[in-house]
Amino acid sequence: MKFEPVIGLEVHVELATESKMFCGCAVVDSVEAEPNIAVCPVCSGMPGALPVANERAIEYAMRVGMALGCKIEPISIFARKNYFYPDMPKAYQISQFEEPLATNGKMLIETENGEKIVRVLRAHLEEDAGKLTHINGASLVDLNRAGVPLLEIVSQPDMHSATEARAYAENLRNILRYLGVNSGDMEKGVIRFEANISVRPEGTEKLGTRTEVKNLNSFRAMEDAINYEIARQSKVIEEGGKVDQVTMGWDEAKSQTYTMRGKEDSHDYRYFPEPDLPPLKIDDAWQERVRAELPELPRAKLERFLAEFNLSEYDAKVLVADKTIAEYFESALEKATQKVTPKMLANWMTGELFARMNQAEIGIKDIKVTPEALAELVTLVAEGEINKKTAKEVLAEVFKSGKSPKVIVKDGGLAQVSDSELIAGLVSTVINAHPDEVTSYRSGKEGVANWLFGQVMREARGRANPQILREELMRQLAA
Ligand SMILES: [Zn+2]
Repeated sequence: MKFEPVIGLEVHVELATESKMFCGCAVVDSVEAEPNIAVCPVCSGMPGALPVANERAIEYAMRVGMALGCKIEPISIFARKNYFYPDMPKAYQISQFEEPLATNGKMLIETENGEKIVRVLRAHLEEDAGKLTHINGASLVDLNRAGVPLLEIVSQPDMHSATEARAYAENLRNILRYLGVNSGDMEKGVIRFEANISVRPEGTEKLGTRTEVKNLNSFRAMEDAINYEIARQSKVIEEGGKVDQVTMGWDEAKSQTYTMRGKEDSHDYRYFPEPDLPPLKIDDAWQERVRAELPELPRAKLERFLAEFNLSEYDAKVLVADKTIAEYFESALEKATQKVTPKMLANWMTGELFARMNQAEIGIKDIKVTPEALAELVTLVAEGEINKKTAKEVLAEVFKSGKSPKVIVKDGGLAQVSDSELIAGLVSTVINAHPDEVTSYRSGKEGVANWLFGQVMREARGRANPQILREELMRQLAA
């Protein structure tokens, strides 16, 4: 039997505000900071402490909702989700339940079969829990993270492979970074995934029983967990068994899912409206103010790059796939002279520069080649000061030292030789030194010209203007 997987994603996004969701505590780095340095009576659940909603967090959530085409609800309600766990001392999490902040959006993703739309059911605000570390039979509690603003974005089950789920997740991360509401640093846990997975016989409509895999902290883990569950559930059904509706974890080391607990229903949490917070009202004026501040999003940037810069679709997509890369490109383009076309700059970036970055395994934020330096380098090529071959060497040097390309060219005597008399002299030296090759060229072996070209270029230490060289060589060979 062939099975079709049905996948929905819940994405938990920490909002990059200065302070927590319902108190004035600072949001501190979850990896670097000392434990329990950002804690107060509100986020540690002391009796009588009252929460106040963080305006900035609400606006960040609105940005995300708007970017995903959601309706921003004029009234949303904070609710208490009751559960006891040591990472949340007040024994409930403030979340939004029946009336979330944003509803009914969508996202366009690229799949191997073209573009498709994944519907977004809702996005709601809540607070993060603290962190537990289990060492030698003891459990250590760190409440720095308790109360950090969290936005949960829930998709409809519109995805049908792990690849599609990954495309959705990567796209979402890119949008969040463009919006400036999340750093996208997955290793710090600022974005976490939960995947709902079921399978059904291909061609049928009825949804199978789903499992929910929690705490997936990387794209890789998410993809692997989904693929694992698809295979596991298919096998269970093929062998005549029944998939249980359970909440699962992902064991990275063993590369397999494991059952954590039976699926809890919402009534298990005894949700009720948070009595200490009024309904969240968002009027049109507030919405318009936030909407006016929205930055250009990846999709719009892609269309602009295609229309304004005459780039290939491939290049444009590579450049907008990461906010920092898009900004680098535009900044370099601004600094380059008129002779540098966007296409030339894009080629140098996605070609030579990215190759160096891949080799060194560093991101664009950490390289020594500034946008100014790349602009300067490509300008030198465009103006014929250096040829491409030399430019690659210069880029390698800039990459290593961060020096200015102009200085490297000047100090190294690397400027391109465009002096036609000098080039003519080198051509005739080479022609005189290789009479046999010249004869075979003249008897019809045209390929020999390329070999002779290489010899002259070598004499010129690679610095000759290739166009002038070729013209001069062909002229002398024809004589
Ligand atoms: Zn606090």
